[in-house]
Amino acid sequence: MDLKQYIREIPDYPEKGVNFKDITTLLKDGDAFKAVVDQVCSHFEGRGITKVVSLESRGFIVGGALAYHLEAGFVPARKKGKLPAETIEQTYELEYGTDTIEVHLDALCEDDVVLIHDDLLATGGTALAALKLVQKMKVKQVFFSFICDLKFIENGNKALLDEYETHSVVT
Ligand code: 5GP
Repeated sequence: MDLKQYIREIPDYPEKGVNFKDITTLLKDGDAFKAVVDQVCSHFEGRGITKVVSLESRGFIVGGALAYHLEAGFVPARKKGKLPAETIEQTYELEYGTDTIEVHLDALCEDDVVLIHDDLLATGGTALAALKLVQKMKVKQVFFSFICDLKFIENGNKALLDEYETHSVVT
C-alpha cells in the first residue's frame, strides 16, 4: 500500500510559500489508518516501550492507537497552560518567536522506555523539544515515530535526532 499517495498537499497553507502536508486524507481511510498503526507497531514491538508521548494535537490521533497496540501508557505533550496538574516545560524556537510544550511532572519516570510520536517531522524543532522534555525526566530510552518525515529539510536539529532510532511511514 503506497501510503504517500494518501497525504494531500495544500499549497500556500498556512501561509504563502508553504506546501502543507494534510494527513486528514490518510486518516479518513480505514485501511490506510490501520496500515500506519500496524507498520509502526510491528517496527517497535518487543522493544519494551512503556509510554507513548505524543504532541498536540495531530500527534494524538495515531499516538493513542500506538499506545493501545503496544500496551503502553499514553502521555500528552501539550501547549503551555493546557495541562491541569504540575508540569515541566520546554521552550523551542519557531521561525518567528518561540513556543512551549509541557508534560505532567508525574507522567514519566526513570524506568520508562518512551516512543515520541508526531504526525510530521519538518525542521525537527518540535521533536527536539519533546526529546529534551523527556530527558529531563531521566527516562531509560527514547525512540521516535512520525507518519511523515520531510527529508529534504536538513539542519542541526535533525542531526541531533539522528542518534535515536526513528521510524517514519512516509518520507
Ligand atoms: P517542526 O517542528 O519539525 O518544524 O514541525 C513539525 C510540527 O509542526 C509537527 O507538530 C507538525 O504537526 C507541524 N507541521 C509542520 N508542517 C506541517 C505539515 O506540512 N503538515 C502537517 N500535518 N503538520 C505540520
